[in-house]
Amino acid sequence: QTIPDLLKETVGKFGSRDALIFPKQEMILTYAEFDRKVDRLAAGLLALGLEKGDRIGIWSPNNIEWILTQYATARIGLILVNINPAYRLTELEYALNKSGCKALVAADKFKTSDYLKMIRTLAPELEKSEPGRLNSAKLPALKTVIGIHENPGAGIFAFSDISEMGNLSDRERLDDITASLSPDDPINIQFTSGTTGAPKGATLTHYNIVNNAAHVVGRMNFTEKDRLCIPVPLYHCFGMVMGSLGCVSSGAAMVFPGEAFDPEETLRAISHAHCTALYGVPTMFVAMVGHPLIAELDLSSLRTGVMAGAPCPIEVMKKVIDHMHMSEVTICYGMTETSPVSFQSNVDDPLEKRVSTVGRIHPHVEVRIVDENGMDVPVGTRGELWTRGYSVMQGYWDDEEKTREAIVDDGWMRTGDLAVLDDEGYCQIVGRLKDMIIRGGENIYPREIEEFLFTHPDIQEVQVFGVPDEKFGEEVCAWIVARDGATLDADGVKAYCKDQIAHYKVPRHVRFVSELPMTVTGKPQKFIMRDEMMAILN
Ligand code: ATP
Ligand code: MG
Repeated sequence: QTIPDLLKETVGKFGSRDALIFPKQEMILTYAEFDRKVDRLAAGLLALGLEKGDRIGIWSPNNIEWILTQYATARIGLILVNINPAYRLTELEYALNKSGCKALVAADKFKTSDYLKMIRTLAPELEKSEPGRLNSAKLPALKTVIGIHENPGAGIFAFSDISEMGNLSDRERLDDITASLSPDDPINIQFTSGTTGAPKGATLTHYNIVNNAAHVVGRMNFTEKDRLCIPVPLYHCFGMVMGSLGCVSSGAAMVFPGEAFDPEETLRAISHAHCTALYGVPTMFVAMVGHPLIAELDLSSLRTGVMAGAPCPIEVMKKVIDHMHMSEVTICYGMTETSPVSFQSNVDDPLEKRVSTVGRIHPHVEVRIVDENGMDVPVGTRGELWTRGYSVMQGYWDDEEKTREAIVDDGWMRTGDLAVLDDEGYCQIVGRLKDMIIRGGENIYPREIEEFLFTHPDIQEVQVFGVPDEKFGEEVCAWIVARDGATLDADGVKAYCKDQIAHYKVPRHVRFVSELPMTVTGKPQKFIMRDEMMAILN
């Protein structure tokens, strides 16, 4: 099934049910209304001359235009390129040129970002060109810029006008194009989070992501009665596949609390729209369970959801279950390159497994745990996690070399994560291969120390990583965000570790910070912390 076929099927079954809810704007669209808007936009994009296989970028925080663009582009087989809303000129130029985008949908303003102004800086030719006929020195492939703005100014189409341009009486043409699409056509270039360095663009097909979305929500028993709160970015697979596509595959409603994550907005949206499910990365849940509003608002509609994207501390999982009514919350493990999810807990797994593992493998995905030589290790042994199946990407866009490094013989995807499987198939993610610390010949897994430090009542967030050390090769370093009003200091942290964890694991360097460097997807970036720490230590 292709994405447009899936949407049509859901509209046929659940046309009168809510599809999209934006509580802040007091906007609600049913599936039938949503579908009409998608078709109008698709017809408009066709009228612009865009054709199957053309790349079209979207550079925007979460909003309705993002969702409409996701499904309108899929309707006519355009390849959607999700561009990080945190990108600035150099990165935007690279992403557009690397993927050869012919068109770009750009947001208006968000916080300190003025997207249309930035694109004008990069392509000053817009000022003197007809909309749709850009001829830019720096962005040779780009012809069309569409601004999410009533009056985007010279050279740029207004998003709302594109739908007007489409001729809906020409629906047959739309349907013919949709019918000509194959599930194996690439439909997305999704960028990874950039947690370990520059983001990579994974090329994914309808087949990859339609199936993954269905399996993810299937494990949570989603039906058309569910209402999912999506504070995670649409730019990322968590929002666009597990969130948006997951809802479309089950007829559930998507609730968008805001353009980017804010704990208060999210909690208010859940209570206002009576959400039954909530997605988030661990740090989002940390911010929500610690929020005073949690006691004031009625969150009793919540049932399930997903925590994913980074190690999910047991303490945080327990609080989410106890204080947020999410008795059926699941943990997912995955990566953009595998559409994304490969492991997920079941809502009826024993509680202890549900909070301490990423559950069991998804249907139709194979798994191996291997040593440095690519040989399988015994059950209960740590090794690199490899996965194979329908969910593995086609490759990194226009990067054969990186693709060959990532997908080895016979289609196995090397995840770069360290994991251990138990004899029942439950998987524990030990950490990233790249983050493992080798101190004086001893392998140290930062995750283990993070879990331990999380048990300290004054510690709100903690990240552990290695820094170079003359004597031991590497030393353990911890960055900590303390709870408001806490008086914890570095010596206190070390004293807390003493006699509890092995001496070589006790962080030698401890730094208190007010916030951690994060990706747009809400993941702490250890490579930035490491660089900064090295500068401080030298
Ligand atoms: P980049 O590849 O650009 O450095 P990234 O790997 O963070 O960034 P994503 O594809 O968004 O980009 O994230 C996938 C990674 O997130 C996994 O490889 C894994 O390290 C981590 N991850 C995802 N889910 C979990 C989880 N439940 N527990 C631990 N780690 C997880
Ligand atoms: Mg990665």
